[in-house]
Amino acid sequence: MKGGLMPGDRRTRRDLHALDEHGMVLCNPRDREAAHRAEMEGIATEDAAAVTCSKCRELLFRNRRDATL
Ligand SMILES: [Zn+2]
Repeated sequence: MKGGLMPGDRRTRRDLHALDEHGMVLCNPRDREAAHRAEMEGIATEDAAAVTCSKCRELLFRNRRDATL
């Protein structure tokens, strides 16, 4: 595994997912449970710069060509 974002402690370090305009998790747009869980557990954000989930990031930047990140 490469990259520096996986220290191994899953209790304190989770992927932050992005939310779409419907409040769904971007990498799991059909799963309402996932969206609810993400909200309850605080593992989703509307701040694109804070998203760490690689799938979400990929989708985010695919959708916005003018992303300033
Ligand atoms: Zn995600």
